[in-house]
Amino acid sequence: MMAWFVFGFILAGFVLAAYKINMLTLSGGLASWGLGMVVYGAFGFKGLGLLLLFFITSSLLSKWGKVKKLQMRTIVKESKGRDSGQVLANGGGAFFAGAGYLLLPHPFWLLLLIGSLAEAAADTWASEVGVLSRAEPYHILRRRRVERGISGAVSSLGLTAAAVGSFLISAAGSLMFFNGTQSLIVFSLAGLAGFLGNMLDTVIGGTVQVSYRCKRCGAEVEERFHCGVECDKLKGWSVITNNAVNFASSTAAGLTAGVLILWI
Ligand SMILES: [Zn+2]
Repeated sequence: MMAWFVFGFILAGFVLAAYKINMLTLSGGLASWGLGMVVYGAFGFKGLGLLLLFFITSSLLSKWGKVKKLQMRTIVKESKGRDSGQVLANGGGAFFAGAGYLLLPHPFWLLLLIGSLAEAAADTWASEVGVLSRAEPYHILRRRRVERGISGAVSSLGLTAAAVGSFLISAAGSLMFFNGTQSLIVFSLAGLAGFLGNMLDTVIGGTVQVSYRCKRCGAEVEERFHCGVECDKLKGWSVITNNAVNFASSTAAGLTAGVLILWI
């Protein structure tokens, strides 16, 4: 308990630093602190390590992607750091895994943690790296090539990046929490669940997820505001935002991996 208390202060210091350098907004900082406390309380430094592996690699990829996108003159999202919606879209599954484990310790929650973060990594890696694909991405439901950055579109570069992101997280998680054959099973299960969860994310993203057309630059975007003006709705349901879809698909991937481990 004492260690947790001390940890809370140290974590608050890091979150404040991330807020100061515009990596997190105020709400994003609070959500990150809560997430960190629960995951550390349940899974200790190993759980925190996995969380950090996801958030640090994603932030670095986003920063690198932003530079590349500026060079390619494609659209860049205006950002003041991650807000609570974005933190929970990717870390919500990990939060439930930690809360569940604190109430009733079981390997199921570990698979939910690893699987949900694997899917979140697949999604982030696919969108940050895939947008750099030289070929125009192929929209799996419209059955034609579309402009870069649209939900529902895939490219071979994006799919490769999704697989690398998913299996990187599952490799780290399985090695930290499991041994021998069990570790190999968890690696395969969580990695595959993460990759397939990202496919589900793409399908939902291309169908019911809301998207808008910017009145100023004409781009198809996921946010309601772009170039400083309110956009026209293009498709989907307003409540099914990108964050909601990310949360649902990452949690679904983690739950699938968790249920499968009960059978094996
Ligand atoms: Zn615009």
